[in-house]
Amino acid sequence: MHNKSVAELSKELESGKISSLELTQQFLDRLKREDGKYNSFITISDEQALAEAESADEMRAAGKATVWTGVPFAHKDIFCTNGVRTSCGSKMLENFVPPYDATVTEKFKAAGAVCLGKTNMDEFAMGSSNESSFFGAVTNPWGLSNGEKRVPGGSSGGSAAAVAARLVPAATGTDTGGSIRQPAALCGITGLKPTYGRVSRYGMIAFASSLDQGGPMARSAEDAALMMNVMAGFDPKDSTCIDRDVPDYTATLNEPLKGLKIGLPKEYFSEQLSPAMEEQVRNAVREYEKLGATVKEVSLPNAKLAIAAYYVIAPAEASANLSRFDGVRYGYRCADPKDLMDMYTRTRAEGFGNEVKRRILVGSYALSAGYFDAYYLKAQKVRRLIQQDFINAFKEVDVLMSPVTPSPAFIQGEKTTDPVSMYLEDVFTIAINLAGIPAMSVPAGFVDGLPVGLQIIGDYFSEARLLNAAHQFQQVTDWHQREPQ
Ligand code: GLN
Repeated sequence: MHNKSVAELSKELESGKISSLELTQQFLDRLKREDGKYNSFITISDEQALAEAESADEMRAAGKATVWTGVPFAHKDIFCTNGVRTSCGSKMLENFVPPYDATVTEKFKAAGAVCLGKTNMDEFAMGSSNESSFFGAVTNPWGLSNGEKRVPGGSSGGSAAAVAARLVPAATGTDTGGSIRQPAALCGITGLKPTYGRVSRYGMIAFASSLDQGGPMARSAEDAALMMNVMAGFDPKDSTCIDRDVPDYTATLNEPLKGLKIGLPKEYFSEQLSPAMEEQVRNAVREYEKLGATVKEVSLPNAKLAIAAYYVIAPAEASANLSRFDGVRYGYRCADPKDLMDMYTRTRAEGFGNEVKRRILVGSYALSAGYFDAYYLKAQKVRRLIQQDFINAFKEVDVLMSPVTPSPAFIQGEKTTDPVSMYLEDVFTIAINLAGIPAMSVPAGFVDGLPVGLQIIGDYFSEARLLNAAHQFQQVTDWHQREPQ
């Protein structure tokens, strides 16, 4: 069962060959047996999962089943789950049990899906390797058979590793600068960062509010489409969520790609990209030509400024968002504070890890009087230019294609002492968040036995077209079905 897709599991349940309770038990047993190798889960919520499975079976018996009813999956530990610990990978929230559900959580519950637990992540979603988690690093299932411990990418590294290792067929992720696409690429799975405002952020712990977006991580585009059917849509509880109809994302998966206009941004095929990676990406683009697409070069002249702008804007927003973690209402509080100031300072010094502190320091500095205009305001202007580059490109082409990462999964510890080298992991993904447009990572080959991702970037609200393009590619290739040994 663990090798089946969401769509296939759904059919098994529908046929009555297996109940959700049996299926959930099988997945839980396997998860507990296998996850010691990966550390992809922070919390396994067996009790709740079995209860959800029971209600799913009742829902089915009552003729009220959806595609998701009884199907196991997992949430990144950034989505609040009522009654189940939500840590965001931090000591600060090590014991935080939310009294409410995120909108995304609520929607999966309403569809009857069974959440097995909460996946590991970089602390407060800050990172590209899942090594900043208070709950320990996650190991990529790829490379492990050679005794290599490689990173799964981050920050949604637990979700990516769990899906790649067949512990769950699908998991939620979030993407502020690349955190769905980069781990999806490094673990050989399919991930989609939707348009900013397509998926509600309510109950999704905030990192950089103008960039954060939840999205699907699964093995195939078809399963990602099934997740989007649940996740997308307006939510009055999120003021930046956009009120716009949600299509059935599975309905257009089989549209032919004849005449699709693909643009290759020349700035994304630069010297940062290793030749072996470039070859895989170009081979993938050639598959699209065989499917009837046309290809031309385009330019995103301001793309090179994206990392610099992001590392002002994201930390600035993070420094404001994370000021709520002060030991007063919830979360970690230091022992025996002398007075209020001592409590604030020691709580934050002890509760946050180094990367989070670095972001708070950088962000507070960029926002402080005297520096605001030079850094924050300037970065916002650059952001507008980057957005305009994409708007111009989509006047000429339907989608853009590029690599997701400059290189495949690296060895644990390789970049932890050099934050800038870690930040450069997102050199091809970050501009997309600044512009607010959607993009996918699709498995597209291997370099040295490690997965390579193809990035497909679309105009605002073009998720259906991206999923269609990815699905058609997955009909003629089998990269997404390769399994780590
Ligand atoms: N790696 C980027 C960062 O560290 C992006 C993380 C994310 O998308 N959440 O900020």
